[in-house]
Amino acid sequence: MTQPTVSIIIPIYNEQENISELYHRLQAVIKQLDGETELILVDDGSRDNSLNLIREIYNRDYRVNYISLARNFGHQIAVTAGLNHVRGQIVVVMDADLQDPPELILPMVDKWRQGYQVVYAQRLSRKKESMLKRFTAYAFYRILRRLADVSIPPDTGDFCLMDREVVDILNAMPERNRYIRGLRAWVGFRQTAIPFERDPRFAGKVKYSFAKSWALAINGIISFSRVPLKLATYLGMLSAAAALLMILLVLYWRLFDPASPLIGYTLITIALFFLGSVQLFCIGILGEYIGRIYEEVKGRPIYTVKEMRGAMNRERVNS
Ligand code: UDP
Ligand code: MG
Repeated sequence: MTQPTVSIIIPIYNEQENISELYHRLQAVIKQLDGETELILVDDGSRDNSLNLIREIYNRDYRVNYISLARNFGHQIAVTAGLNHVRGQIVVVMDADLQDPPELILPMVDKWRQGYQVVYAQRLSRKKESMLKRFTAYAFYRILRRLADVSIPPDTGDFCLMDREVVDILNAMPERNRYIRGLRAWVGFRQTAIPFERDPRFAGKVKYSFAKSWALAINGIISFSRVPLKLATYLGMLSAAAALLMILLVLYWRLFDPASPLIGYTLITIALFFLGSVQLFCIGILGEYIGRIYEEVKGRPIYTVKEMRGAMNRERVNS
């Protein structure tokens, strides 16, 4: 079997309105790519008609492969499942909702030919997304850049091209908490950006709820930074300094101004609640890290597959 040159991974969760348009636009792009292409559609436990549509495309087009996860595992894991099964020398990851224009694959491949192992798409703007989303995304990427041990380029998502070499390293990483855009930056090699305008969704609703986006953001920070852990130390020093100041103040009041109305329950109550919340906050941070250690130690598989069709399956059967 000849090795395909370009593998395109697309995670799909309830995208029935987008699949056929996506396939059409991809076909036009694939025609312009020289060498072979394979599509790896990863159904992330969709509850709509997505899987049937994927099966239809698979039956029509020999270049299409699909993996259907046994339940909804989340975007990052769906991409991971795809990465685990690609065979191409060049691997592209893109969303199914056409926010990542497939046409950008062509200049990405050009960059690869120039010797870059990672080419990531960098958003210049977000069309038709709410002010809140734009603001939080803007702030998050800047905070992450300050905190993370590796420099994770701001305003980049998972839309990217990676060389086989990089994908092999990603696949060899045992960690369950997969913040792919961070891991990709961590790997190193020659990386470059292609700026692009992020289109609005072609159809359907956004699949990232606020809770999922929040979890992804926290994951990005916790997986790539130990600064939050140090925060407890800094807060501790700060409250020790505040305590010292209070001791001096209270002594002063006792000795020189016994009638001061500032001494009393109000002060004690404020101090109590302040310290209590600082402590809980720090325990919460510890919890985030410990929870992740727990996840890793359990060593469960990252995902479960209920159905898999295509070249990678045939290879598995043969081997
Ligand atoms: N997605 C997924 N599993 C999920 C949520 C989303 O595979 O649990 C896919 C979704 O189908 C899409 C991509 O991940 O192809 C990005 O999702 P979405 O467009 O909702 O989020 P955005 O990144 O645009 O905010
Ligand atoms: Mg989207």
